[in-house]
Amino acid sequence: MEKTPYTPVRYLKGIGPQKAKSFARAAIHTIEDLLYHFPRRYEDRTNLCAISRLQPGSTCTIKARVLACSHRRSFKRRGFSITEVSVGDSSGRIACVWFNQPYLKEYFKAGSEVILYGKVEVYAGRMQMNSPEFELLSGEGEGSLDTGRIVPVYTLPEGMSQRSLRRLIKMALEEYIPALNDPLPYDIRQRNELLNTAQSLLNIHFPGSEVLRQDAYRRLSFEEFFLFQVPLALRKARRKTKQGIAHTADGSLADAYIAQLGFELTLSQKKAIEEIRRDMQKPVPMQRLLQGDVGSGKTVVAAASALFCIQSGYQAAFMVPTEVLAKQHVEKIGNQMRWLSKGRQSPRIALLTSSLAASEKKKLLARIREGEVDLVIGTHALLEESVRFKSLGLAVIDEQHKFGVGQRALLPAKGPNPDILIMTATPIPRTLAITLYGDLDISVMRDLPPGRLPVKTIALSADKRQDAYGLVRQELLKGNQAYIVYPVIEESYALDIAGAQKMYRHLKERVFKEFRVGLVHGKLKQAEQDEAMRAFKDREIEVLVATTVLEVGIDVEQATCMVIEHAERFGLAQLHQLRGRIGRGKSQSYCILLAVQPTDLANKRFEAMVTSCDGFRIAEEDLKLRGPGEFFGSRQHGLSDLKIGDPLQQLSLLKRAREEAINVVAQDPLLLDKRNKYLRSELLRRFPDYEHLMVTA
Ligand code: ADP
Ligand code: MG
Repeated sequence: MEKTPYTPVRYLKGIGPQKAKSFARAAIHTIEDLLYHFPRRYEDRTNLCAISRLQPGSTCTIKARVLACSHRRSFKRRGFSITEVSVGDSSGRIACVWFNQPYLKEYFKAGSEVILYGKVEVYAGRMQMNSPEFELLSGEGEGSLDTGRIVPVYTLPEGMSQRSLRRLIKMALEEYIPALNDPLPYDIRQRNELLNTAQSLLNIHFPGSEVLRQDAYRRLSFEEFFLFQVPLALRKARRKTKQGIAHTADGSLADAYIAQLGFELTLSQKKAIEEIRRDMQKPVPMQRLLQGDVGSGKTVVAAASALFCIQSGYQAAFMVPTEVLAKQHVEKIGNQMRWLSKGRQSPRIALLTSSLAASEKKKLLARIREGEVDLVIGTHALLEESVRFKSLGLAVIDEQHKFGVGQRALLPAKGPNPDILIMTATPIPRTLAITLYGDLDISVMRDLPPGRLPVKTIALSADKRQDAYGLVRQELLKGNQAYIVYPVIEESYALDIAGAQKMYRHLKERVFKEFRVGLVHGKLKQAEQDEAMRAFKDREIEVLVATTVLEVGIDVEQATCMVIEHAERFGLAQLHQLRGRIGRGKSQSYCILLAVQPTDLANKRFEAMVTSCDGFRIAEEDLKLRGPGEFFGSRQHGLSDLKIGDPLQQLSLLKRAREEAINVVAQDPLLLDKRNKYLRSELLRRFPDYEHLMVTA
C-alpha cells in the first residue's frame, strides 16, 4: 500500500483494533493526525547527574550500570510485589524500585547500561528512585526516546502510556516522513528562516536541542497561520476584481446631516467617515469593518455613509439585531434626517421587522422594490427572500457578532455587489483584527464623544446588596434612573425568569416602593418589551429590572446606575456591553457587580471591569482569559483549528505569515505556479469550499 499522510493509523505496526479505537476517540485517525498530535510539554532530561551528587527531592537523569536486580513479594500487603534494581556509576550507587511490575526483572541484567529518570527520595535512611522512567542502552548509545534528551510529554489517548505513544510517533515519523509534502513554498521558507516539514515534525516531537525545538515550533505555527491567511488573501484579491458601485455624490447630503447633529464629530468618527467615503467612491466593492467601543457613536457613521449612498442614487439597508434597536434608529435617524432634502424631499426611511402586519409589509416591500424607500432599517426580517431592492448600494450590519456568518452574506446578496459596512462593539486588538479579518478593511474608533465620565465600577459580594441598593436610591433621588440586570441562561431558563420576576416584585413592593419599577425580559411579547423600554426612556419608569435583552442598543442618557446580579455568570465582553448602557450622559455613572462566591476567573473579570472602561483593553484581557478559540466563538475564523500557533504570543509571526500570504496571492492569484503546488493541494484539501477562488472567474 502506498504510504501517504492520510493512511489510517491502524496500518502502523503495533496498532491493533483496541489502540486504533482509543486513537479515534482522541480524534487521531490518520498518520497525519498522529504526527500533528504535538507534545503538551517537554521534560529536559539531557543533563546527566552523578549519583553521588543526587539530592533528595530533585528530579534527575542518571546513566548507570545495573549491579543487581531482585524481586520480592511484599510482607505487609498481599498481592503487592517490589522489583528493586541496584545501579551504580563511578561516583556511587542507588536503588531503583518499581511496584507490581514483576516482568521488569527480565529487563535488568547485571552489567547492562541504563538511563534512568525520576525523583530522588529518601526511604528507610537511604536514597532511592521510585518507578523512574528508564531506557536500556543497547550499547550504540543511540535512539533513546525516554531519557537522556528533551523528552516529549503528550496528552494521552485512553489506555496508552507516554512510552508507547512516543514509540508509535517515532515509528510514524521514520516511515512516513518521506511521504510528506511541504505546503510552504521554498522561497517563503528561505526568507523566513523556517525549517521544512520533515525537520520541524522531527524536532517538535524529539528535539535535537532546545534551539531546534523552538525552530520547529516557529515553523509549525507559521504554517498554521499561513494556511489560514491564504484563503483570506484569495478572497480579498477576488473581491478587488469585482465590479461594484462607484458612488459619485459630492457628499453634501451627509455633510448637511452632520452639521445639524448639534455636536462635533470625534476625530475617530471623522476619520472613519472619510475612509468609508473613499472606499465607496471606488468601483471595487467596499468591505469594511468598523470597530468602536459601545457609545463611540457608530450609528452616526453608518447614517452618514447611508446618505452618501442615497445621494448617489442608491438605496441603503441597515440591519440590527433587535427590534427595539431598529425602532430606536428609525426614530432617531428619522428625526435627524427630517431637515435634509434630497432633490425635493428628505430621505425616505422605513422600518422593516417581523412584527409588521402582513398588509403593511406587503406595501412596504413593494415600495422598497420600486425604489421608493431610500433607507431601510430592520432586523433579520431584511434577509427574507421577499425583500428585494431596486438598487441596493450599501448594506450596513450592526453588532455583527449577533449574526451568523451565513446571515451576514445574505444582505449584500440583494444588490449588485453593494458596498458593505460591518460594525462591531467587540473590539479586538488592531493587529490581531487585521490578521483575523484579513479579507476586510478596518476602521477603528478609539475615542469616545467628549465629556463622558468613565463609569465607576465596584465589585461587591452579594451580602452587600443593601449597599448597592443604597447607592441606587441616592441616584434615583437625584432624578436619575437605574437598571438592575438579572442573568438568564438558556439552560435554566424557567428558573432564571422566575428569579428575575421574584426579584422584580421584591424591588417594586419593598426596596424601591416609592419609585416606579418596570420589568423587561426576552419572553415578553415584542410589543411589551418595546413598551417597557419606551416607558423607561420617557421616565415613566425609574428602575428597570431587565435580563440581557438590554445588552444591545438602547440609549438613555439619564440612566446612571446599573446593578448586575450574579455577575459571576457573565462573560467579560458581556459585562462590558451591559455597562455600555450607562455612562451615556454627562453625569457620573455607577456599575455594581454583585456576586455570590465568584470563581478565581470571575474575580479576574471583575478586576478588569473595575480597573478599565476601555473596550479595547477589556477585549485584550478577555482574549487572555478565554484564549482565542473561545473568544472568537467557534469555527468562525478557523482559529479553533489552531493547534500550536498562538496569535497572542506570536503576533509578529502571524503578521509575517499574513504578508507572505498576500505576496503569494499577488504573484500567483490562482496558485497554479509549480512552486505552489503543495500549497494549493493542501488548501483544497482543507477548504474544499474555496476551490472557486483558485480557478478563473
Ligand atoms: P454605539 O457606537 O455604541 O452604537 P451610538 O451610535 O449609539 O454608539 O452613540 C451613542 C450616543 O452618543 C448617542 O446618543 C449619539 O447620539 C451620541 N453621539 C455620537 N457621536 C457623538 C459625538 N461626536 N458627540 C457627542 N455625542 C455623540
Ligand atoms: Mg450601536
